[in-house]
Amino acid sequence: MAKWVYRFGGGSAEGSADMRNLLGGKGANLAEMSALGLPVPPGFTITTEVCTYFYANGKTYPADLKVQVEDALRQIETIVGAQFGDAKKPLLVSVRSGARVSMPGMMDTVLNLGLNDETAKGLAKQSGDERFAYDSYRRFIQMYGNVVLGAEHHSFEEILELHKSDLGLDTDTKLKAEHWKKVIEDYKAKVEEEIGKPFPQDPKEQLWGAIGAVFGSWNIQRAVTYRKLNHIPEDWGTAVSVQAMVFGNMGEDCATGVAFTRNPSTGAKEFYGEYLVNAQGEDVVAGIRTPQQVTIAGKKANNSTLPAMEEVMPTVFKQLDQVRAQLEKHYCDMQDVEFTVQQGKLYMLQTRNGKRTAAAALKIAVDLCNEGLIDEATAVARIDPASLDQLLHPTLDPKAKKEVVARGLPASPGAASGQVVFTADDAEDRAAKGADVILVRVETSPEDIHGMHAAVGILTTRGGMTSHAAVVARGMGRPCVSGAGDIRVDAGKKLMVVRGQRVAEGDIITIDGGTGEVMIGQIPTIQPSLSGDFATLMSWADKVRKLKVRTNADTPSDARTARDFGAEGIGLCRTEHMFFDGDRIVAVREMIMADTVEGRKKALAKILPMQRQDFVELFKIMRGLPVTIRLLDPPLHEFLPHSREEMAEIAKAAGVTPDAVAARTAQLRETNPMLGHRGCRLGITYPEIYEMQARAIFEAAAAVHKEIGETVDAEIMIPLVGIPKELTLMKAVVERVAAEVEKAAGFKLPYMIGTMIELPRACLLAGEIAKEAEFFSFGTNDLTQTTYGLSRDDAASFITAYERQSIIKKDPFISIDVEGVGELVQIGTERGRKVRPKLKIGICGEHGGDPASVHFCAKVGLDYVSCSPYRVPIAKLAAAQATLSGSDGRKGEG
Ligand code: PEP
Ligand code: MG
Repeated sequence: MAKWVYRFGGGSAEGSADMRNLLGGKGANLAEMSALGLPVPPGFTITTEVCTYFYANGKTYPADLKVQVEDALRQIETIVGAQFGDAKKPLLVSVRSGARVSMPGMMDTVLNLGLNDETAKGLAKQSGDERFAYDSYRRFIQMYGNVVLGAEHHSFEEILELHKSDLGLDTDTKLKAEHWKKVIEDYKAKVEEEIGKPFPQDPKEQLWGAIGAVFGSWNIQRAVTYRKLNHIPEDWGTAVSVQAMVFGNMGEDCATGVAFTRNPSTGAKEFYGEYLVNAQGEDVVAGIRTPQQVTIAGKKANNSTLPAMEEVMPTVFKQLDQVRAQLEKHYCDMQDVEFTVQQGKLYMLQTRNGKRTAAAALKIAVDLCNEGLIDEATAVARIDPASLDQLLHPTLDPKAKKEVVARGLPASPGAASGQVVFTADDAEDRAAKGADVILVRVETSPEDIHGMHAAVGILTTRGGMTSHAAVVARGMGRPCVSGAGDIRVDAGKKLMVVRGQRVAEGDIITIDGGTGEVMIGQIPTIQPSLSGDFATLMSWADKVRKLKVRTNADTPSDARTARDFGAEGIGLCRTEHMFFDGDRIVAVREMIMADTVEGRKKALAKILPMQRQDFVELFKIMRGLPVTIRLLDPPLHEFLPHSREEMAEIAKAAGVTPDAVAARTAQLRETNPMLGHRGCRLGITYPEIYEMQARAIFEAAAAVHKEIGETVDAEIMIPLVGIPKELTLMKAVVERVAAEVEKAAGFKLPYMIGTMIELPRACLLAGEIAKEAEFFSFGTNDLTQTTYGLSRDDAASFITAYERQSIIKKDPFISIDVEGVGELVQIGTERGRKVRPKLKIGICGEHGGDPASVHFCAKVGLDYVSCSPYRVPIAKLAAAQATLSGSDGRKGEG
């Protein structure tokens, strides 16, 4: 018989933490905590395989599931000493979802299941608190009615509001048992009216209804969206955990809370949690009441006036603190736990590896390693390379003048300015039009995910550090300020009011998610300096990494930034960017306009000193490291004048008529410039251009050599080669110039001449090309474009449709298409190295900074990746992880 159900509780468990694929994260960890002897209410988990079966078989269950569930239910009854449906001592259960990876708030949950007209009486008697029993019953009808039976949530809200206004009461807590009984009658009538059947009284029927609803919630819209955004496969499915209820809302000696074993924002080794006395779990997360701090230190840090759990329940707190230490030691990672205190007794309801900011992730990994819980390799493997981006987020310029109009909690770091929007849809709409938006909500819910994703920052007026907004924003790396209670939001009118000032949709505000401050208008930001933990972790990554990481930089400032981030040279300097600078463009245009070699040479002579000076600066900044300079690549018409004034200016400089300029402009225009007169084709037709560039490079190298007494490691790169002879000819031009400069300087200049491999033909003929080329650099932007026959400038408009319909998994211009483009890279590498075994090979397309592509490059055995300056740390970490995962194909020759 297949096993569909795994039990836990009473100090033992059938499952364990490593069974998360089968039991979901929640089920696996409940089992693990049970086995550790922690106080976990007993329960059982129905596996993700049942979810798969459910969807593959028209929403039905395997035949033997029923017996297994009933057996497991009996075991809970035995441990708890209560019976499901028993009128005197009823067992109540929660039914929760749990996928392999946490999808917070995305799927459905039902609490207090097992209550009906009879068991509610039993619960009242047993707890000695009639009000509590009927409050629980009405919560159950509300939740079950909505989640399982599909009744509208607001129907219940309306009934409750009506009762409260009839009674003249303003808060739920003031309603007494007899009031709740009346509310319940109306709730039940409403359910019957909406679904045409009475509210189910049979607890077994309730249980199967809830199980079906949780499995069904795997496919509700918000869960599907969340999976898409987080690349979670559709076929994983969810598990369902059924667990004996414990109550945090049975009185003043009860509580419920969530806590992190370390601070999830900073990573500091301090217990960080929030709790509420006399409340159920959802109350903390939903941000309905202002949560209190678990520790006295937390209370001080948050300037809270409400008592800490450490003060109010010292014994239970001590126990919780011990559980915290035990869990960290056991899991060797920071945990995010949920707990409930029922009549002075602590219960653990969940543990999982806590979500954290990138800064916290770094600190925690480094600290855990220093504490001896993990080794350096594990620390390196734990950091998501892409998350380092968060650390490079701008912060507010401390010198900037700012007027703080409101303060909330520093829920997710980074500063952001943008137009205010009040709904997720508006956020998405405005962002699609290119605006930076700040999503402002009273509190967020899982329905807002798409808007949070579209926003550059999130601001809420209610909710703590563990509210939905805070948790999700941290995960996404969006700056977030939560619980800024002084702001009044009127989402209907698309307006917020703060300190008497009205801020309407589209007005600009700035938030600082590192301090919790809110300002009106745009405040200047600065780039962050990186912490010591960052450097420590990068040094550990550097120890294992074999793949080198260079940068794509065309300006001294880019080169400096990249070097500060640890770039090991320049992998691509696009010289055309230097052509647009200041008054150079006039000389460049003059050069293009010339229709004789002499005319072009005259104009090029004006550009030479400027270009030489550019290289002098780059060589100095990159002292001791290789610098790859690519000769001119883009089609000439990109440099042409657009307006009449520009044409007149060129005409004057070149000594021709404006009409001649216009005619030449028209002549240079191409139908398909990307596939036209560009790359080395320019060098073939106008060798004097490459000659000037080569001269600028070598003269700069000679000058720097003389000045600092060190050789310059220059690599000259010929773009868009598809025919080996193109390279042969261009190489001859460069070598001739090198010899001339060497002769004039009186010493040899070390240099290499190589090529970009960015055409399928170049990959196929790599063996021939390698006879001339001393290095290859894969230009995967063009290689992707030419392999797919997909214009890199036009693909954005339809590529999302391809992603949505799963025709492609990821945009191939962002992450390398391993199957197609990747195979060409592999062929090019193999064929090139067959001819020239020591051929140096790198990649300089945008893919060089994408972690998955970096893994691929390591696997194929490239020597280096080159990426934009800010991606250098990301690429380095990804390269180290590739080595650690054993997918690095390099032999380590450096
Ligand atoms: C490439 O094609 O990948 C490349 C780096 O060159 P560019 O983006 O300048 O065409
Ligand atoms: Mg290219």
